[in-house]
Amino acid sequence: MPGNQKIKNYPWGHERRFNAYSNYFREIYGARVQKVSIDAGFTCPNRDGSRGFGGCTYCNNDAFNPSYCQPSKSVSEQIGEGIEFHKWRYDGAISYLAYFQAYSNTYASLDILKKLYEEALNYPGVIGLIIGTRPDCIDDEKLEYLKELCGKFYVAVEYGIESCYNKTLKRINRGHTFEEAVLALERTTAYGITTGAHLIFGLPGETRGEMMNQVDIISGLPIKTVKFHQLQILKGTCMEMEFKNNPADFELFTWEEYLDFFIAFLERLNPTIVVERFTGEVPPRFLTGEGWGKKRTDQLLYLVEKRLEELDTWQGRLYEDKSKK
Ligand code: SF4
Repeated sequence: MPGNQKIKNYPWGHERRFNAYSNYFREIYGARVQKVSIDAGFTCPNRDGSRGFGGCTYCNNDAFNPSYCQPSKSVSEQIGEGIEFHKWRYDGAISYLAYFQAYSNTYASLDILKKLYEEALNYPGVIGLIIGTRPDCIDDEKLEYLKELCGKFYVAVEYGIESCYNKTLKRINRGHTFEEAVLALERTTAYGITTGAHLIFGLPGETRGEMMNQVDIISGLPIKTVKFHQLQILKGTCMEMEFKNNPADFELFTWEEYLDFFIAFLERLNPTIVVERFTGEVPPRFLTGEGWGKKRTDQLLYLVEKRLEELDTWQGRLYEDKSKK
């Protein structure tokens, strides 16, 4: 594409230079849709001993959970408080997605899951579910049920992939392999259910080149939406100790480096994948060290969009569909 030629609409149908999550929902519903987080009191198989103990080495769920999310409250109470919480921030959010966020939200019997999900779906204004879970916490019975819900509601299952490398998954105590993640994505897609994926950049033992090369792997998977995070070392985690004992093993990104890295990654990313976020942000009290100081997610989003404009580039500009070769 000649450098000066301005593209009015990209393959995703709008003028933003990446396939943005907020636009994706506007396309479907014609209005803003707000996610409301829920902590329904689940745990994870790498915490309770069925796959391991201690959980992922970087994990501190408290850092990501909004204050209104507490498992001592019912699903309805959390949704009600979540709606109030978001109301003053955003005018005009008319529909809500119940986001089962904390821990592994399919890690229970189907009866328990049905009760929790259906309580959420019965809340006025809730039009669907987003279920965050692990690739080893899904089975055909649960997928069959979710498929039925898809007829009436928006339903997406988001899997923590975190890394495409088994050496990394082992090191961070994920308790599952990358192959299990691929299988879960494929099975979920086969049921016609929307899939999401989460990835972390900066995990110990990975080179920047290895991180970058994941773009071709991710681009070939049946993923509809993706959330990227930069590694943040959180207080009270195993990784905090690991970092203190062996800082040379970590190549944490400065925000400037991350911006460069992410733009290059985005250029190679399959344009059909909707990007929900490309950075994570936790309250500073949870962070070891300074993190990225006062740089906030919305400022970084602005900088990414500005840089894409300056470079006259966009998501997928360098994407190669390897399945066609
Ligand atoms: S699976 Fe998720 S919630 Fe569970 S320990 Fe790992 S990061 Fe934490």
